[in-house]
Amino acid sequence: MRHGTLLTFIGILLFGNAPHAADVLIQNANVYDGTGKPPFAADVRVRAGRIAAVAAHLRPSAGEPVREARGLALAPGFIDMHTHADRGLLQDLDAATVTRQGVTTIFIGQDGQSHFPLRDYYAQLQATPPAINVASMIGQATLREQVMGKDLYRASTPQELARMKVLLADELRAGALGLSTGLEYEQAHFATTAEVIEMSKVAAAAGGFYISHVRDEGNHTFESFDEVLRIGREAHIAVEISHIKLGSTHLWHMAATRMPEYFAAAKRYHVDLMADVYPYTYWYSTIRVLVPDRDYDNAEKVAQALADNGGAAAIRLVLYTPEPDLAGKTLEDIAAAWKLTPAETYIRIVHATSAEVGTHQPMEAIIGTSMSEDDVRWFIAQPQIMFCSDGELHGAHPRGAGSFPRVLGRYVREQKALPLETAIHKMTGLSARQLGLKDRGRIAQGYVADLVLFDPAVVIDQSTIDAPEAPPLGIPAVMVSGEWVIDNGLPTGKHPGQVLRSAAFRP
Ligand SMILES: [Zn+2]
Repeated sequence: MRHGTLLTFIGILLFGNAPHAADVLIQNANVYDGTGKPPFAADVRVRAGRIAAVAAHLRPSAGEPVREARGLALAPGFIDMHTHADRGLLQDLDAATVTRQGVTTIFIGQDGQSHFPLRDYYAQLQATPPAINVASMIGQATLREQVMGKDLYRASTPQELARMKVLLADELRAGALGLSTGLEYEQAHFATTAEVIEMSKVAAAAGGFYISHVRDEGNHTFESFDEVLRIGREAHIAVEISHIKLGSTHLWHMAATRMPEYFAAAKRYHVDLMADVYPYTYWYSTIRVLVPDRDYDNAEKVAQALADNGGAAAIRLVLYTPEPDLAGKTLEDIAAAWKLTPAETYIRIVHATSAEVGTHQPMEAIIGTSMSEDDVRWFIAQPQIMFCSDGELHGAHPRGAGSFPRVLGRYVREQKALPLETAIHKMTGLSARQLGLKDRGRIAQGYVADLVLFDPAVVIDQSTIDAPEAPPLGIPAVMVSGEWVIDNGLPTGKHPGQVLRSAAFRP
């Protein structure tokens, strides 16, 4: 007896042929199947968590529940390619800020920071499943901390690197999809490119890929992209630039002229270069990222960094534990209140929050308005660039609740930056391919029934800096593994999310 037959036999013994509680026939949908081809009218049958049939007219079988889609768009569930929505996920299993956007899979372990060991976190998720699926990278900074403790402001020694490689290989076996770095952050900034290449080779050998919040998102952004390409070439690994942006005023409006050469070079070198982007011109991070070489006490450099980021009025403090009342004020406001220059204000904030470094308890955070809309639109339209929120379940930046409907409403419908079927492909089939998820990201027979029902004429984000969790419009229903997790725009309380491990090691 072949394994498949045996498993089917056991399945029938255990579950019989009775309909699954959540089986449903979705009728009269306009299906965007995730491949990028134009939509088509169809009915979709969901049985036992998978798509059992897609056809023009399917007749309901006896007792089969029917869901009338009324011509709304039906797409595979969206995949958020860079998010921090795992923070607090076990305490908020509905993850409504995520699911209401139509997102059914979150890709975590980003910016060099991940759960460790992943096996323990995955066991927790499986014991207490959330509404959404979770896939993860293993973080390079996380491994550095495991091996180097708090002594992180230097390159690793050969012995430390060897130890990190062993830990990395083990995490890849636990199901990590590859290696993430956040080379702009202090725990990782002093890692040499050679160190990252050596680690990436381990990830490549396991069939994984490399994703990076690059070393410098300011004036040296393009040099940082060069480093990503070099890592791809020398480690023979597919690479992805996280939340790609041109965040320094000196680099504004260069996406259309400078970026094509990177994708062309990648092709020449046989490097699979991808990126992800969130659809906002303002970002959220620690105030420390503003000064690229960490020379925080140098008032001249700080002043230059503030100017490069649009000036003190463009930088808004949204978290500041030493004086919580300052949250929401710009650096310019605070400088006026403190009767200091903006550079002196910056230096004072960095000093007052120095205890956060190397911990995972941020004491400050800023929202910086430092991207230009034409660059964001160019990234959104690029075939190799997928979508992310870079958000949190309950974060201060509206991207955590608005990114995907914002792409569909603002950039597809209103600005016509790209066709709807292309945007959906980038959110689904393309992202699933990047993650090696062979049975997700498409509406076709046999695929897992992660689905989103939405109205392309209405869908839009409503979250703002003042109301960062406001739910989007036009997304009435979302399904994960054959169960509705959102219905009538609200969480159903169902938690069918799964841990998605790398295909290479999936049991
Ligand atoms: Zn990042």
